Amino acid sequence: MRKPGCNEDNVEMTDVLCDFCMQEWTEARPMVEGHQGSCICGDCLAAAYRVLVMVESAVPETPSKCVLCLEMRSEPSWHMPPAPGALPIGEDTPHACRRCVRQSAAVLQKVTEFGWRKPTA
Ligand SMILES: [Zn+2]
Ligand SMILES: [Zn+2]
Repeated sequence: MRKPGCNEDNVEMTDVLCDFCMQEWTEARPMVEGHQGSCICGDCLAAAYRVLVMVESAVPETPSKCVLCLEMRSEPSWHMPPAPGALPIGEDTPHACRRCVRQSAAVLQKVTEFGWRKPTA
């Protein structure tokens, strides 16, 4: 996502925030862009990849809207663990579907200067 109040005509790297952990895009924190400026950073992507691809996640009973493809998906999805005292997981919680996590991981790994690798074991 874009940092609130940033200049849309001149978006800087630090104006881009991860939709999941709200951290800025930096040299050390690569990002993959989804639809409508949504972003997932390498850290969140690695965490999501571990949960959705390496562990057999159960399909949720209720579909959740993926912020990266903006579709309601009936497949395992990932979200940040809620911080203590934060709102419980609900419709407003950003979710990433398994398809997007797989695609984003493939995209990010191709950009060799980021040095990002899909997690193994
Ligand atoms: Zn993140
Ligand atoms: Zn998706």
